[in-house]
Amino acid sequence: MRGVILHAPGDVRVGQREDPKIEQPTDAIIRVTASCVCGSDLWPYRGVEPVDRPAPMGHEYVGIVQETGSAVRDIRPGQFVIGSFWASDNTCEICRAGYQSSCVHRVLMGTIGTQAELARIPLADGTLVATPEVPGDDLVPSLLAASDVLGTGWFGAVAAEVQPGRTVVVVGDGAVGLLAILAALQLGAERIIAMSRHESRQKLALEFGATDIVTERGDDGVATVKELTGGLGAHSVIEAVGTQESMLQAIRSARPGGHVGFVGVAHGVELPGEVLFSSAVHLHGGPAPVRRFLPELIELICDRAIEPGRVFDLTLPLDQAADGYRAMDERRAIKTLLRP
Ligand SMILES: [Zn+2]
Repeated sequence: MRGVILHAPGDVRVGQREDPKIEQPTDAIIRVTASCVCGSDLWPYRGVEPVDRPAPMGHEYVGIVQETGSAVRDIRPGQFVIGSFWASDNTCEICRAGYQSSCVHRVLMGTIGTQAELARIPLADGTLVATPEVPGDDLVPSLLAASDVLGTGWFGAVAAEVQPGRTVVVVGDGAVGLLAILAALQLGAERIIAMSRHESRQKLALEFGATDIVTERGDDGVATVKELTGGLGAHSVIEAVGTQESMLQAIRSARPGGHVGFVGVAHGVELPGEVLFSSAVHLHGGPAPVRRFLPELIELICDRAIEPGRVFDLTLPLDQAADGYRAMDERRAIKTLLRP
């Protein structure tokens, strides 16, 4: 089969990979309908994470089940399925508490590489959620968004305790940040302040439900948020970048007693104890347990109540994946959808 392989920083190509096979009785093989490039794929692409050998890429996927292992009970060939970036059994104590991304049997899909024609999905019954029927092609981008960016933004909003009547700040205007705005609106936020400097992203932020846009960063950004919130700061802040600057901005934008949900993959973040101590905020985050939210998100999408697929502003055939990486790296595209 064809699949995306990262050979070295900046050098991503589509090449031949071995067809996946059932390795464990709990596996399924899917034919990938669509995959996409994640902001986190840019970390190794930019050389921020080391690339020591050619690596298959991709951890977001929707597709049709081709084959299942002998122990798979619920998932059947022919179903259209969505899973997330950690395969999980959905039965262990951690999964049952709603933290499937920390499942004791978890498998990272990024090591499998779903930017390909086929993919092996471990722990298929726990990992995959099937739609009631094979959806129309127009729903595919939104269902694919649920695989990671929507589920991650949604977890950010839940971790930040977004509730009706609350004021929410979203730090980060990538796909996750934009969909955290959509999530905050769905969860009843009264006011949603998006921090963004890019016009096309500001526009989408407003369409997804942002009520205010703040273009300043750092001290000025915090000051503007305070101004907009009567000097108090926000009830809920969603951090969707993962840098030192964004994390501190998030903590300092929350009011005492407020909640910060952090879902940007942290790179080089070190929190000063004095800032933490004096902030008096709740911090909760980490790799999003997207599996917890998938059934609800799939229903909202199939009912056409939300359209998270609008974050895909570039769609390419799989063979042109390198162009998709480049466009995201240069911030010409918010998110690239790849069709095998
Ligand atoms: Zn588990």
